[in-house]
Amino acid sequence: MTLLNRDPKAPDAWYGELPVINRYTYGLAGEKFFRTLKDEGRILGTYCPHCDRTYVPAAIFCERCLAKLNDWVDVGTIGEIHTFTLLYVNLDGSPREKPEIIAFVRFGDGGLIHRLGKIHPDQVDIGMKVQAVFTPKNERIGSILDIDYFKPV
Ligand SMILES: [Zn+2]
Repeated sequence: MTLLNRDPKAPDAWYGELPVINRYTYGLAGEKFFRTLKDEGRILGTYCPHCDRTYVPAAIFCERCLAKLNDWVDVGTIGEIHTFTLLYVNLDGSPREKPEIIAFVRFGDGGLIHRLGKIHPDQVDIGMKVQAVFTPKNERIGSILDIDYFKPV
């Protein structure tokens, strides 16, 4: 069934609550990745010399050859827009005043999914260079949101 066959009277969403609490550990690579993001405002990847691949965010094992990765690389703060989408509604289903732009920003052979700022949706292009804008250092918490947004270079 495609969206074209969707019943126009069907609800847009079902609302409810699930009593689920999650707690994820960062793991070895995530610990260093997020600590460096928080403390130094740098984005780290890990490099697999066997496969010539740079993982971003950093991984502790190569997903192709399973080698343990020890080569940490600073990939800089400028990435390239690989793809993007526009969000017109909030999580609660309410309409947004203006769309939020969410992009996959490529670094190395991986990348980060994050919001774009300081740009109109009509100006976004695949391949465009964007730079991470970090939150003030004293407000960082060791999360991907320590990057506030990406802006055009
Ligand atoms: Zn590998």
